[in-house]
This record gives sequence, structure tokens and C-alpha cells, in this order.
Amino acid sequence: MPEAERPALRRLATARRVAKHRLSRRNIGRRGQLIGLTAALAAAAGTTAVGVSSSATGPAPTSTGLSPSQADALTAARIDRRDLGSRDASRIDLGLAATRKAAADKAAKQRAARLAANATLTERRALALASAKAVAARKAAAKAKALAAAKAAALAKAKAAAAKAKAAPKIVLPTTGYHLTARFDQAGGRWAHNHTGLDFAAPMGTPVRSVMAGEVIQADYEGAYGRQVKVRHADGTVTSYSHMSEFDVSVGDSVSAGSKVGAIGMTGNTTGPHVHFEVLPGGGSPIDPEPWLREHGVNP
Ligand SMILES: [Zn+2]
Repeated sequence: MPEAERPALRRLATARRVAKHRLSRRNIGRRGQLIGLTAALAAAAGTTAVGVSSSATGPAPTSTGLSPSQADALTAARIDRRDLGSRDASRIDLGLAATRKAAADKAAKQRAARLAANATLTERRALALASAKAVAARKAAAKAKALAAAKAAALAKAKAAAAKAKAAPKIVLPTTGYHLTARFDQAGGRWAHNHTGLDFAAPMGTPVRSVMAGEVIQADYEGAYGRQVKVRHADGTVTSYSHMSEFDVSVGDSVSAGSKVGAIGMTGNTTGPHVHFEVLPGGGSPIDPEPWLREHGVNP
């Protein structure tokens, strides 16, 4: 405590003693004391300028009109007030600082939280965007892959078809405008054994053609078969055409698929115009021509 305030403290003690003494004398000077306290409070509030330095020096009234005891009370009140104010101010300052710090902390926390939230949101958006992009990329890649695969498959199919067409010998049916009248292995009174070929009935004179390319190995009249042509193909299979009305090739001729070898007739053992067609693998025993034709690409 500063040196200058020690006399003031002594005066405060004096003033308190005086006030106690006065209070003990009931009603005496009560009015004056009230006036003095009011003035002291007013002065402490700064509304009245009061010279207090001379108040404790003598019994005479001061320039303010306060008695020495009133001046003492005023001084004490002012000191109390100042001390209280000072403590309060400190407390207020501390409180304010604490409040401000708390507010600043809170604001900082909120800012951090907002930043974090924004960062999280941004991150989430970025993640979602990246994810969507990845999905789109995967879809595009899958689509491109599927397209490429489809293209490759189509190309492979076309290539296979072309290769098959190239590898497989061209084949045609032996005649046109026909209907089948007897099938392979069919039993009947007209044959000594079961039927050995496939009968294509068609009007007289309808062209009879070699089903595949090959070499003519027979063009002659052959008993019950009538006029007969045989062609040997590249794989050794022989096809024969019987009951024809004419020959359009000779032995040794090279023929193509569809080359005319003769015409529909009724020569040999037959009841109507047709071509008796046989397939003899390796020139041996005849087989059912229907599946053979189908296997080679035509459907009789
Ligand atoms: Zn026949």
C-alpha cells in the first residue's frame, strides 16, 4: 500500500470509532450523521468536490460545511469505496480477461470445428466425386471392352465363316423342282434289296447336276439303274446319278458343283421320271444321302 494512504487509514479508524460512539448515544447527532454519510457517498460517486485534507485537523467546520467527524466519515467511505472499486476493477478485469479468453477459445474452437466440418465435407465431396469418376471410368472401360469383345467376336465369326466357306467344298442338290419319292434303306417291291439311294422325282428333262466338283468316272447304261453317271470328289467320295434320259458328260471330265451331267428320265427300273442319287464313300458301299447332304450344307 502506498505511503500516502496510511494517514487515510488512520483517519478511517478514527471515523469508525466516532461513528460507533455516536450510534451509542441514541438519536443524538443522528440527523447530522445521515447528512454526512449522504454527502460522503455523493462525494465518493464523484458528484461533489470535497476537500478532505483539512477535515481531520480541527473542530471548525471545513469549507464544505462538513464537521470533522463528517469529513472523517466521508474519507473512510471514499477509501472503502476506492479499495472496493479497485478490487472489483481487478476482479472485473480478470473476469473480463477470462471471459474474453473463453470467448476467444470458444470462437477458435468453433472456427476449427467449422474448418474441420468444411474439410470433412470437402473431403467427402472429393471422395464422392473421385468415386463417381472411378465408377464412370470403370463403366466406360467395361463398355469399351464389351464393344471390343463384340467387334473381335464378330470379326472372328466372319473369319470362321469365310474359312469354312473356303475349306468346305461347294455343294448343290442334284436337281430342282423335285419331291422325294423314296428314301435310303426303304423296302419295296421294285428293289432286290432295300433302297440304296434317295429318289428326286421331277419333270422329264429337268437338268441333273453334280453336287460337288470332281471327276467323271462313269457315264454309261447300267442295267436297272438305266443311264448312270458317277463323279469322284476330292475326298474320294463317289456320287451317282441314275435313270437319266441323257448324258451331258463323259468319263474323265472335270465337273464343278452344279455342272449338268444329264437330265431327268425313266431309264432302267423305274415307274416314273426321277433321279436315283447315291453317295458311296471311297467308292464303296452306299450310305444315306440325306445326312451326308445336310452335313455338307444342303437340305434336300
Ligand atoms: Zn431310287
